Amino acid sequence: IGKLSAMPKRMLRSTRALTDSEAALSGPFDLKARLLANENPFGPSPAAKKAIADALDKSYQYPFMMMSQLSGKIAAYEGVALKNIVMDSGSTPLLHAAALCYTKGGKSVITGDPSYDDLPTYAEEFDGKWVKVPLTADYKLDLDAMEAKVDANTGMVYICNPNNPTATVVDTAKLKAFCERVSKKTMVFVDEAYIDYLPDAQAATMIGQLKAGNNIIVARTFSKLYGFAGLRLGYAIAQPETITMLKKYSSAGFNISSTTLAAALAAYQEKDFLAETLKKTNESKEYLYSVLKQEGYDYIPSSANFVMFPIKMDGKKFSTEMFKRSVGIRDWKLNGKDWCRISIGRMDEMEAFAAAFKEIS
Ligand code: PMP
Repeated sequence: IGKLSAMPKRMLRSTRALTDSEAALSGPFDLKARLLANENPFGPSPAAKKAIADALDKSYQYPFMMMSQLSGKIAAYEGVALKNIVMDSGSTPLLHAAALCYTKGGKSVITGDPSYDDLPTYAEEFDGKWVKVPLTADYKLDLDAMEAKVDANTGMVYICNPNNPTATVVDTAKLKAFCERVSKKTMVFVDEAYIDYLPDAQAATMIGQLKAGNNIIVARTFSKLYGFAGLRLGYAIAQPETITMLKKYSSAGFNISSTTLAAALAAYQEKDFLAETLKKTNESKEYLYSVLKQEGYDYIPSSANFVMFPIKMDGKKFSTEMFKRSVGIRDWKLNGKDWCRISIGRMDEMEAFAAAFKEIS
């Protein structure tokens, strides 16, 4: 089972049939505590699940209108036009399309280090270059240093806010000014996968910068606060000509199932349920903080549904020992040290983590 954490990301998200050895490894995915992929076990909402059940009866029909219905809801909430939105099966295909669009021909993408690595990994597959800029001393994206790296070969800057894996946010006013300046020189991609976990997502989003005419892409997903990771739904908001480009480079158009769309139509901005999810997430997070403090561990205060903390042993050994106790977490290297990134799950999962952690720490 130790090998699981070393499984390449591509294999983990592969849709092909598993080989025998992969199937043997897939057992640990039935973990007591599945805290390795920043999923949210408090979703989807009961209304979303009911909508899926109802939609099944009509699932022999093509979902002709549902995608535009959902885009319409999102557009109305965010105050943008339909031509500003592209939806896809998760935000991953949109990261993929953006990497292809803006780094083809050997252009570079500038990212934080560490930050979410999907987009730059795709860029490298397309022969783009990956320019990594270390985080600040308080583990935030170093916007000034990232801006200083922009040159004639830059195809895009990727801003993950809150940042995965550190769960830190950058100052909103600073990021707004950054978007305004840098988008005049290159495409700025703002990945807001975890923005819904902030106390005021509407104040922190860069969609306002887009509406002000700046050339940026804001990516969102239903995988996190909505708990839709397995249902696969994400979207990007950008200037119409950027949306046209992203559509050309992705399969976007007719690739989201009626069941997922029905669930999203029921769940989008379902305020009470989302507030309840945030409350439970914060309770589990506070419990985790108290366990870490009790055991004499530090952590980076988190603005998302996961927490990074430095560990006191080899990272691979730590994750392997955790897996043996049916607890899935991710080990990480940061500043040459070993860290654990743990997703925030249900209280029983956090308790399973705490029990295993006390045994091995
Ligand atoms: N962006 C970030 C920062 C993520 O952490 C993830 C998933 N872990 C994604 C995008 C992709 O998520 P999805 O394809 O499920 O929308």
